[in-house]
Amino acid sequence: MSDQPRSSEPPIPGTAVERRPAPVVRCRRCHRPLRNPESRWEELGRHCADAPAPTRVYAIDQDRLPGT
Ligand SMILES: [Zn+2]
Repeated sequence: MSDQPRSSEPPIPGTAVERRPAPVVRCRRCHRPLRNPESRWEELGRHCADAPAPTRVYAIDQDRLPGT
């Protein structure tokens, strides 16, 4: 009995699938860590993607004045 040399050893490192943690991607505007894959891809959080650009204050909305 107890002839098996098996013990509770952890698997040899390198053989198992290497699980490296995903790098922290931060929003390029507010530099908040992004968790959403789509946001990480664009490096832009949805909170900033939906928000208007802070630099472009003047929105180009008015094209022509009606009545002229
Ligand atoms: Zn942001």
